[in-house]
Amino acid sequence: MKFVRIATLVTALTLPFAAFAQNGESTAATESSSPRLVVAISIDQLSADLFAQHRQNFSGGFARLLEGAVFPSGYQAHSATETCPGHSTILTGSHPARTGIIANRWFDMSVERDDVRVYCSEDSSVEGSSSSDYTVSTGNLLVPTLGDLMQRVDEASRVVSVAGKDRSAVMLGGAQADHVFWPGDAGFTTFEGRETPEALTRINEAAMQAAVSNRVPLPVPQQCTAYNRAIPVGEEATVGTHVFSRGPTTSGRDILTSPEGDLLTLVLAANLVSELELGQQDTTDLLAIGLASTDYIGHAYGTEGVEMCVQLMALDAMLGDFFARLDARNINYVVMLTADHGGLDLPERQVEQAAPRAARLLPGFETLDARLAAETGLEAPILRADGPFGDFYVDRSVPEDRRAEVIDRAIAMISAHPQVYRVYGRSEILAQPITTAPPEHWTVLDRVRANFNAERSGDFIVVLQPRVTPIPEAIPGAYVATHGSVWDYDRRVPILFWWPGAEHVEQPLGVMTVDILPTLASLIDLDISDVTIDGRCLDVMPGVGESNCP
Ligand SMILES: [Zn+2]
Repeated sequence: MKFVRIATLVTALTLPFAAFAQNGESTAATESSSPRLVVAISIDQLSADLFAQHRQNFSGGFARLLEGAVFPSGYQAHSATETCPGHSTILTGSHPARTGIIANRWFDMSVERDDVRVYCSEDSSVEGSSSSDYTVSTGNLLVPTLGDLMQRVDEASRVVSVAGKDRSAVMLGGAQADHVFWPGDAGFTTFEGRETPEALTRINEAAMQAAVSNRVPLPVPQQCTAYNRAIPVGEEATVGTHVFSRGPTTSGRDILTSPEGDLLTLVLAANLVSELELGQQDTTDLLAIGLASTDYIGHAYGTEGVEMCVQLMALDAMLGDFFARLDARNINYVVMLTADHGGLDLPERQVEQAAPRAARLLPGFETLDARLAAETGLEAPILRADGPFGDFYVDRSVPEDRRAEVIDRAIAMISAHPQVYRVYGRSEILAQPITTAPPEHWTVLDRVRANFNAERSGDFIVVLQPRVTPIPEAIPGAYVATHGSVWDYDRRVPILFWWPGAEHVEQPLGVMTVDILPTLASLIDLDISDVTIDGRCLDVMPGVGESNCP
């Protein structure tokens, strides 16, 4: 067994994006027509807009995937364009209405604890668990993943999920996954009591080493220089020119908010392929990879500065190195790459760059409970919500016979906010069937409906106007921009399929991330005809009469 050695990793960090160690341990090619390894990659916050903006500059892993089947206008079709719902659609074929993952956090008035907020990948039945300090679990996901379905047919299929966030790893891996890894307090971790491969220990040692070594600023590639422009945010700070120049740090957050977070995730994934010999048996294995740094960087610095450009060029190079590692092992693999949601740049830069309507959220939401209390005589908390949009719930302290009145008053109050697009009530949403129309033609109510689960969703859903950033006060370097809206900049993501010998085809019309599961299933001859899903198989074999779809 060989691993990327610590020294090599540190070299890769200081001379960023140099090739991973090519250790020459190539194995005999598996003689099989159908792929022996599915590599499913989700890049957190990689919008279709960002991908379109940078695709002509890619020469590494992205460039390779662009030679296969390209869907530049994929859709996370639903309304809550957040990490957990997005990841729940990618390998299940289903919208959040069916996966049950309606948001990163929702409210469950029936939980036996004071904290009625539930985190999407927590086990809320564990004593002492809360939405911020929890035991990671797959229990909230209501449908099987690709990995679960592969193992239903052949128990020998190995399913491995590695991601830069616990919720991404869990939603891609599913209930039956053999290995699920995410960053914990002390490096990558997994479920309690699970065996840990040597690769995990090695990567955590390497991460510690990287954290105390002296590092130089990452170079700005020539194609990123035009993005290198300081944009004032608040009184003193700016974003747009940060180049991930750091001294020694022990902050895991610093590492994740830089290309190095994705590097660690990819090195771990590559070393797991070697150690577990993925793709080397007579059946098909699954490796799911969630790369989170693009999202951390988007939130910290926005999407249109030098930071994001450097990140995407780095990712392109790192993915190229990662695929080269798979090639060296002669694995017959198929790659799918997409994103959990898109994103929106910070309003301060949008205004400077020809989008004058952009704005941060105006006051009003923070006084809702006080105003409702004054009108109704009830005591706060009256409403529960995880932010100024999405699912709103009436708190369980409100008497049953006052609920309808509270909902009516709340909807009227919220609708009067100048940045609210519309508020949708529960019965209006549920009266609507889930549409089968092409995703670029969905109404806003269609988007809300595909996200709505009768058991878990709110009493009403708040939709903000387009180009409103729901962060009233930016924190430069941590939280200046976000996603989560019903609007297309947050819904549209690229979807790419590639395998050795794949013929290039590009389809600019809208397809959906729920189409990924049936498409991958068809490419590995997995029969899922008895599973109810929302997606359809995409014919990624462009020849006349040729089709991968059943
Ligand atoms: Zn995300």
